[in-house]
Amino acid sequence: MTGARPTPRRIDTHGTNCWIYVPADGSETGVSAEIAAETAAEIAAETAVSRGAGGSHGARKPCFLIDPGACPDDIIRNVERLNLYPTHILLTHGHFDHIGALPDVAAYYGNQGIQTIAIHEADALYLGKDSRDAHRRCWSAAAGNADYIEAHWKPQPDPTLPLRDGDRVGSLRILHVPGHTPGSAAFFDEEARVLFSGDCLFKNAIGRTDLPGGDARLIRDSLNRLFALGDDIMVYPGHGGTTVIGAERRFYGGAFPGDL
Ligand SMILES: [Zn+2]
Repeated sequence: MTGARPTPRRIDTHGTNCWIYVPADGSETGVSAEIAAETAAEIAAETAVSRGAGGSHGARKPCFLIDPGACPDDIIRNVERLNLYPTHILLTHGHFDHIGALPDVAAYYGNQGIQTIAIHEADALYLGKDSRDAHRRCWSAAAGNADYIEAHWKPQPDPTLPLRDGDRVGSLRILHVPGHTPGSAAFFDEEARVLFSGDCLFKNAIGRTDLPGGDARLIRDSLNRLFALGDDIMVYPGHGGTTVIGAERRFYGGAFPGDL
């Protein structure tokens, strides 16, 4: 690629990283340039009207929003401060700490005509209005009770874009990396060398596999797949700091052995 590598922006939502990602100029988020320009103009007009006056908000740029875990007001405020609008809400997996803000964020942007909610089909059980029991079971396994779910539950929207391994969403390729959950996915911008690894790979740590649907053998294979993508790739995980594939590959001695 030419030019600067695009840098995702992080919003810390109670310990989960929500990423705002604007692909490099010339890349698409999956919406055609014409539609993006029209939509941006419509939103700018609506926003100017609804806010009453004054300043022009200009044409917003499209972005991806990854894992709106909590704090929907913070997420929306940051997206607006950057003069962006999300064409897609992408979910690395369905755990509640990655989707807690989804009902409010999806409603806010859905009301503006933008609502693509994408998750791997094997984690789709965590979305939709009937997903509360799945969240209760999962949170209880992690925390011993489901109090957090009861305190923060809002009906989840349905996914609108089921993801499968190899799919492309704009400049991002979908990598199915099961193990933390059956439907865990990583999002890879090959051109920009940027990877959103969800709860599969963290800085000097890997995702837990003791929750419902977790599988230690599968996460081993998923991690080795990520390590093979290239040492130069910047990694933006679901929790904690950023890293690069080469540093993680060396941290784990090159690859995970067969008998993890
Ligand atoms: Zn998780």
